Amino acid sequence: MKRTFAAIVFVLLLAASALAAPPKLVVVVSIDQFPTDYLTRYDNVLGDDGFKRLEREGTWFVNSAYPYATTFTGPGHASIGTGHTPSESGIIGNNWYDRATHARMYCASDPRVDPLLPPSADAKVRDANRMSPLNLDAAGLGDRLQERDRASKVYSVSLKDRAAILMGGRKAWGAFWFDPRAGFTTTTYYRHRLDALLAEFNKTLPTRLKAHPSWTLDPRTRGARVTDPESLRDAKTDRYGLGTSFDHPITSMEALTYTPFGNELVLDFARQVIKRESLGADAHPDILFVSLSSNDYLGHLFGPDSWEAADAVVRTDRQLAAFVRELQAKFGANVTLALTADHGVQPIPAIAKAKDPAAQAGIVDFNNAQSPGRIEVEKAAAQTLGLSAPAAAIFWFEEPAFYLDFAKLPANVDPEVAKRAYRDAALTIEGVSDAFTNSELMLPEGASESRHKKAMRLSFRADRSGDVMITLKPGYIWKSSIAATHGQPVPDDQRVPVILWGNGIVHGDEPCRTREASPLDVARTLGKLIGVDAGGAHSNDLNCARKMIR
Ligand SMILES: [Zn+2]
Repeated sequence: MKRTFAAIVFVLLLAASALAAPPKLVVVVSIDQFPTDYLTRYDNVLGDDGFKRLEREGTWFVNSAYPYATTFTGPGHASIGTGHTPSESGIIGNNWYDRATHARMYCASDPRVDPLLPPSADAKVRDANRMSPLNLDAAGLGDRLQERDRASKVYSVSLKDRAAILMGGRKAWGAFWFDPRAGFTTTTYYRHRLDALLAEFNKTLPTRLKAHPSWTLDPRTRGARVTDPESLRDAKTDRYGLGTSFDHPITSMEALTYTPFGNELVLDFARQVIKRESLGADAHPDILFVSLSSNDYLGHLFGPDSWEAADAVVRTDRQLAAFVRELQAKFGANVTLALTADHGVQPIPAIAKAKDPAAQAGIVDFNNAQSPGRIEVEKAAAQTLGLSAPAAAIFWFEEPAFYLDFAKLPANVDPEVAKRAYRDAALTIEGVSDAFTNSELMLPEGASESRHKKAMRLSFRADRSGDVMITLKPGYIWKSSIAATHGQPVPDDQRVPVILWGNGIVHGDEPCRTREASPLDVARTLGKLIGVDAGGAHSNDLNCARKMIR
């Protein structure tokens, strides 16, 4: 009897494992600029059916963080889509200096392709939209799926070109992004068949703009734990007439994208892509990448400690709840969703100081020859090298690196000695934490290297990175035209959520939820669910969250 029972259980288990079919649709949602801290800080104003639903029914890896240094949008989305570090994917930053063309290189630029835009779009718009994954040197999750099954569709949607393009990978059927002057667009690089959708959707934009005459504080957000008095308004950035406090008038499409309503453009367009392309409808699994950019746009203006950031979290939570509800209604158990972010953000230094005068915070400015930080560095380097006057050898600064022109230095100065002099000079500047020459980073990893050096190795490419790479201390940011920013190997920038939910995913136990994880693991783990091997040397299978299929 016992034996028969065991045999029946065995047969049932076999049947169950055979029935555990892979998802028909995999959705990857990246919220641009979303530190993990938001989920705990605003816990009391989140709904039950958004983030909390995903945490409750899926697995939230509470300690997930990027291991690399350059926590920007380009590297982040390349990492999410491919599971490869910036050093592996080549997307070391949003921009770098290209030694071959002697010009700034944008991570998603490709002058060979033409944008697909309405005929009236002006030349400026046209040139700004010549984009493709040309610079992406790693295969993505979508690429691996395409290699196995050409009938599997891969689409990617965002307000930002680099987010859509780099997550979608090299073989995506379509990557779509938003130009406020023209609407959603793409380029001739992609083989999609959604021209009609682009035209139709973009026709609805004036109505969509009219529907949101201003951004007001959602009543639910009032209960958030926020310290953001009127006295701190001066430290924020006013852009597109939005002002620096509620209510924010929305008078243009640009302004709309700097409010949480920009996310609705992306989600609505994504809904249309699902419908028009019948994603998740057949036995060939499809992937849809969605990046919500408005959180980053507005986060840069108002900072992470603002009412605006809190309101964006509350509204994103609600937008996500609706999207997840629809996915479940449409696909039932056939959909898997991963939620993550491309980077976090640091507080606005002036606000950190206003709240606590003893706070370690500030701005480091190496942007041009007149920048105070750069003048100091040139002086200190000249002194070390025994020069009578500063050589002005830094010919290019691109976060986080100096690019040096050795021809500016006397012929007897060894370039290695010069690089070390500039490295040491950078270390004398307030806010600088570490600095490394490219030669150091090209040597094998040493026995006891600092956390920052390890992180910078993962962001380094000999052909694209600069001659001296610099990291800042927590609280310090690079100078820019916006109030708050990110881009450092510090917890505020590196720690972002990774939440898996849906088909093939279980609610992980405590050791699972707290294990080491990073957004680099998303591609590998989702790949396991659809039977492809994605990800690089630093991409792990978060198998404790996966239903084990024998
Ligand atoms: Zn940003």
